Amino acid sequence: MGLSITFWGVRGTIPCALASHMQFGGNTSCIEVKAGETRIILDAGTGLRLLGKRFQVEEITKATLLLSHTHLDHISGFPFFGPAFQPGFNFNIMAGHLNGRNDIRSVLARQMERPLFPVPLLTMGCAISFQDFLPGDSFGLDGGVTVRTAPLNHPDGATGYRIEYKGLSVAYITDTEHVPGHPDKNILQLVEEVNLLIYDTTYTDEEYPSRAGWGHSTWQEGVRLARLARVGRLVLFHHEPDHDDVTMARIEAQAQTMLPNTFAAREGSSIVL
Ligand SMILES: [Zn+2]
Ligand SMILES: [Zn+2]
Repeated sequence: MGLSITFWGVRGTIPCALASHMQFGGNTSCIEVKAGETRIILDAGTGLRLLGKRFQVEEITKATLLLSHTHLDHISGFPFFGPAFQPGFNFNIMAGHLNGRNDIRSVLARQMERPLFPVPLLTMGCAISFQDFLPGDSFGLDGGVTVRTAPLNHPDGATGYRIEYKGLSVAYITDTEHVPGHPDKNILQLVEEVNLLIYDTTYTDEEYPSRAGWGHSTWQEGVRLARLARVGRLVLFHHEPDHDDVTMARIEAQAQTMLPNTFAAREGSSIVL
């Protein structure tokens, strides 16, 4: 078995429980990567709750959570991840954006403290470990999985990931802001010839100037990076809450005219490499 990727949450910024958004989905960032028997979770947005239920059905006993960063749309599903409350579950949590200013355990604990949340992190009864690393570090996971990382351009920092398994690769690059006309060298290096690039395409190039400094990129920049780095397939991700299904379908069609192997992530969909 190769690498399989399932989108449990594709929205950026805030969940959108709107009929007009259900084709692409309303939950925030959460992706499941299966590399053989190894389970990796990319971000803990609201999509994580449903992934937890699936893990319970499939009796999954071990997973690694790789966090891009800790803005709320990437961690607000964490307190609702059922397996974390089960003694038989082994949960490894990693983040690279805190750079010694903080540690990932205390940041995740803070959002579960009263009066923000009534159930503290300590009640998570699974075997849980927390690991901070530096963006740019590489490390191995169980089953021959290699993870490479790079720093992204985002307020409070963020980490981009490249996961490699049996010659297959997927890169997860969100949240990040580009500098128009200057492709991000850290990203280009990390995603070079990757099979699948999942990229922060919150805005369009037309919308971007009024949102400069907000920490996000555009689908057109995603296409430019994908071409420069000879990426296999581009996935548009971290959809702007104001982009309803009609808008998202239009963006996806426009992107496909520039780069045919492109699609916009839909909640619940999977891709097998
Ligand atoms: Zn975000
Ligand atoms: Zn963010």
